[in-house]
Amino acid sequence: MRALRLPDWKSEPELVEVDEPTPGPGQVVVKIGGAGACHSDLHLMHDFEAGAVPWNPPFTLGHENAGWVHALGDGVTGLTVGQPVAVYGPWGCGNCERCRVGAESYCENVAEAPVPGGGGGLGLDGGMAEYMLVPYARLVVPLPDGLDPVQAAPLTDAGLTPYHAIRRSWSKLGPTSTAVVIGVGGLGHVGVQILKATTATRVIAVDTRAEALKLGEECGADLTMLSGADTAQEIRRATGGRGADVVLDFVGVDTTLALGAAAARTVGDLTIVGIGGGTLPVSYFSVPYEVSIQTTYWGSRPELIEVLDLGARGLVRPKASTFSLEEAVGAYRKMRDGTLEGRAVVVP
Ligand SMILES: [Zn+2]
Ligand SMILES: [Zn+2]
Repeated sequence: MRALRLPDWKSEPELVEVDEPTPGPGQVVVKIGGAGACHSDLHLMHDFEAGAVPWNPPFTLGHENAGWVHALGDGVTGLTVGQPVAVYGPWGCGNCERCRVGAESYCENVAEAPVPGGGGGLGLDGGMAEYMLVPYARLVVPLPDGLDPVQAAPLTDAGLTPYHAIRRSWSKLGPTSTAVVIGVGGLGHVGVQILKATTATRVIAVDTRAEALKLGEECGADLTMLSGADTAQEIRRATGGRGADVVLDFVGVDTTLALGAAAARTVGDLTIVGIGGGTLPVSYFSVPYEVSIQTTYWGSRPELIEVLDLGARGLVRPKASTFSLEEAVGAYRKMRDGTLEGRAVVVP
């Protein structure tokens, strides 16, 4: 079968011929219907080097996957060949306290995981291929009626990651509240949809690109702002001086973190989702009182079930363009150039 593989750090992916996987006991092979291209893959190709993460290339890219059950290993029950499924992306040990509640992104026994701190497309072979091996049946989630694999694939990361970040702040997103989404890209535009679908908050979308703001508006943002020197004051003006109850930073560079801190309301949440690697000085005087600052990484398996339900009901629909495996390298190039609107889904 064909697979888009990352041959080494600091290199471009290559489309090559590899053997089809066969499932061992307890394992599942998924015929890929859609594999999302993620901005973090660009970091894998261009920024990471040996030692940055506890795994190394070569491996097949694609950590955002859905398709149909193709083959079941011995002992797998409750799944049938041909059944549409999504693949839960972060693969933990399955046995620690975090994994047992489905939060495998925060596995505390990574030495026992299929790959420490990774998953398919992150150290092990992912879904940018015709077939993908999933090492434990618990990691596949059946798709609800009304959702096909092309729509489901981006929900497993571009949907699940903002869903988790938003869900943990639900108690602060009541009717009088304001949420600010910084960066209306692959994750941010889905974040706007999730805020509108699951809370009563007012949503302000901020980006440096006018087209991204248009996308934010289409996704239901109440107000959009082109990011500039006085965006924080603009947010304060738009909220009667109070600021934003929840700021979701999908970029994570110095300037967006500074904006988030300047725009946050007392007792608000500033959640860093984007892996831009920026820093924010925190002191008694630098952020409003009782602002909680946190990073989040991906989401839990129960949350994936919830976000797939929102997708099936049409409440959350990532904007996606489809590409063939041959076109995948070009899709990543468009993503790097900032000319890709929404998500790129590779359909092998
Ligand atoms: Zn990702
Ligand atoms: Zn674990």
